[in-house]
Amino acid sequence: MTSGKPLNCRVCDVVYPPSTLKALMALPSDSLLEARVDVKAGLDEGTTCPCCDQFAKRYRRPLNSGAARWLISLVLLCEGHEWAHTSDVIKGLTGALSGTDATTLLPHWDLIEAKPNDDSKKRTSGFWRPTDKGVDFVHGRITVQKTVIRYNNVREGFEGDEITIQDALGDKFNYGELMGR
Ligand SMILES: [Zn+2]
Repeated sequence: MTSGKPLNCRVCDVVYPPSTLKALMALPSDSLLEARVDVKAGLDEGTTCPCCDQFAKRYRRPLNSGAARWLISLVLLCEGHEWAHTSDVIKGLTGALSGTDATTLLPHWDLIEAKPNDDSKKRTSGFWRPTDKGVDFVHGRITVQKTVIRYNNVREGFEGDEITIQDALGDKFNYGELMGR
């Protein structure tokens, strides 16, 4: 029996996949620190961890036009509503569907939040609502930094210029049209 608590690699910090548990700690402990330094230095390009053999990479994801458009649809839909289901948000998008990674991306900036999932048979509840920050961003009252930096499912920070909702939409979409103005 396993304890159920995930074990993190002592070199790359990523949770071990069950298949590598047998190969745990193949490195002598005096090499661990050195290996950690090497792995951390290679994260921007991506590197294979010498301890657990997993690919370790730091990811940079910009707030793209599809996600910005999805967020506008959510904000318009949630005016007067508590939560909106993803399928209804997508119905509110005109033209070609894009921004299907919106629910992955937008929480990195704390622009949306998921309704807690009380159905253990489903991975997520599928319901979302904008945060106050998300509403302010859509209405042009605040800016956010363009790119989020993530490693091992943890947000390490942001980089790039401060952008408005219109910057995020770029040339692909017309902000006024999307807002119904
Ligand atoms: Zn590792």
